[in-house]
Amino acid sequence: MLFTQTFIPTLREVPGDAVIASHRLMFRAGMLRKLANGLFTYLPLGLRSFRKLERIVREEMDATGALEIKPSVVVPGELWKESGRWETMGEALLRVKNRLGADLVVSPTAEEAFTAMVRDELSSYRQLPLTLYQINTKYRDEIRPRYGVMRGREFTMKDAYSYHTDDAGLDEMYEKMGRAYRRIFKRCGLTVIPVRADSGAMGGSGSEEFMVESEIGDNTLVLCRDCGYAANVEKAACKPDYNPDGGVPAAAIAPVDTPAVRTIEELCNFLNTGASAFIKTLIYRAINVELDLSEAPGTCRPEKKAPRGGQDGPVTYGEAFFAVLIRGDLEVNEVKLAAVLKASEVSLAADADVERLTGAPVGFAGPVGLRTIPLVADESVTVMFDAVTGALAKDLHYTHAAYGRDFTPWLVTDLRTVKAGDRCTLCGGELYEKKGNELGHIFKLGYKYSRSMGVHYLDEEGKTRLPTMGCYGIGLDRTLASVIEEHHDEGGIVWPMTLTPYQVIIIPIKYGEAVKAAADQLAATLEGAGIEVLLDDRDERPGVKFNDADLLGIPYRVVVGEKNLAPDKPRVELKRRGKGEIRLMELGFGAGKAAEELSALIRGELAELNR
Ligand code: ATP
Ligand code: MG
Repeated sequence: MLFTQTFIPTLREVPGDAVIASHRLMFRAGMLRKLANGLFTYLPLGLRSFRKLERIVREEMDATGALEIKPSVVVPGELWKESGRWETMGEALLRVKNRLGADLVVSPTAEEAFTAMVRDELSSYRQLPLTLYQINTKYRDEIRPRYGVMRGREFTMKDAYSYHTDDAGLDEMYEKMGRAYRRIFKRCGLTVIPVRADSGAMGGSGSEEFMVESEIGDNTLVLCRDCGYAANVEKAACKPDYNPDGGVPAAAIAPVDTPAVRTIEELCNFLNTGASAFIKTLIYRAINVELDLSEAPGTCRPEKKAPRGGQDGPVTYGEAFFAVLIRGDLEVNEVKLAAVLKASEVSLAADADVERLTGAPVGFAGPVGLRTIPLVADESVTVMFDAVTGALAKDLHYTHAAYGRDFTPWLVTDLRTVKAGDRCTLCGGELYEKKGNELGHIFKLGYKYSRSMGVHYLDEEGKTRLPTMGCYGIGLDRTLASVIEEHHDEGGIVWPMTLTPYQVIIIPIKYGEAVKAAADQLAATLEGAGIEVLLDDRDERPGVKFNDADLLGIPYRVVVGEKNLAPDKPRVELKRRGKGEIRLMELGFGAGKAAEELSALIRGELAELNR
């Protein structure tokens, strides 16, 4: 391909909003342009790399036995109402109405669309297991699209959904997908950190996220230096650091006047103790709770909603309040809390709700005598026998409050946010933190969608059963940008051979006469050998062409200059992008020698990555 015949608008200037390397380089190298906030156009060069990534993903999906389909991107709102996510997805879900006034959704993910199709086709256990996937457009109305295609509004996801008769079948596909994901990232030359995203609270189902380390990562990863434990902080657990002298209830509980003292910090100063002596009591509001609250204590009963998916679906509560207890120096992990409560959303209750439920102004909530709502305690509280806590009255706290004697939680579970320095739950080693970006996610869904959307089949005995499900997603745009993040230098991109838009760039020094003939011949011979060549035939200074070649990141640069074209032994300069060394390479008859040498180099690199 001749440079002048394609469309590669390189830029010297960096777009103002581009703060990360991949964003800057995709624009500067002429791969990408912005149409509007979070909406992008891939130009020819960018699309070449994108298609290669798509091919890798497709090959690895096909190898798992998953079958590709192509559903529509716009789906009926009805399906989202059936699954319950019409309400729970929030503002990220783009809802539109058509001319007939029907609700439509622009797919942000496709559990509903796939499951509705499978529901119509599935009748017998003989059709299972079934794994389907698509590589297709998604839309999420992100509040703050940023970092180029890392977080866009429209993007491309590979999403797969699997349907099984039993857990063993699901486990098998889940493992296969995990292996396929590892291979995809390896083939892209990416270093990923697979992290646990299973909390155990989701009913034993598994979930794994594939992260790349990134300063601008939205995720915090918790890792163990000793055993390699790696988890998203949203789900990370740690060894309890229990108070060693716990176990003996202290002196009788006693009220203490604490005028105008509300925060833990103010209390510490006032009572001259550390934050770990306090039981923090936080009033939470949870939305769409699926946890069974029929036996939960509390005089303020939450209102029940109809079971999802008919008779056998779980009862849900539209809104429920909980008092969450945790040691004063720890933070509540709201993702864990939502998982435990099986709630779609949890947030701190409004002041008015706190006052109504605790009978005291904000800042004086405590577990002792709190009878309106269920107490949900972090495990740290179970060894607190001499604690300070709010006394449900203005300017009053208790000292010497003891777990099990003065209050008994309805539920005790792991709710703390793990931090660097905490101890590994597996081996006791010291945990540390990293920032990461999520590229892919595999998840055992279980019966959530088959139940809510009423998917059934007949088993061997003719009994009606629900299939269990898994889902598996990778963001292609974010993966491509992450490859650039990992593979670049000051000069530009340094593509791994598997994703480069072209494998060889030929730069003629003055494109005319002998040089033109040699360059054209080399390009033709290489292309004949199936190698992707970009020939920079522009009328530009060599310096400009060299800089652009570096910017574009094409692995092999061949410079054709008159001085090396001796008639008896014509040679060209060869340089591997990212390496300093420049050496002369013989062209050989019809450029055959050079083409052979380059083919071997390229094949070697491809084989290494695709191994
Ligand atoms: P995030 O937490 O980053 O918003 P998510 O957990 O909501 O992502 P999933 O629903 O698991 O994402 O989607 C699967 C994959 O789709 C993600 O791992 C990511 O690679 C990609 N993805 C999600 N949102 C975006 C986006 N706004 N722009 C680009 N890629 C995205
Ligand atoms: Mg995810």
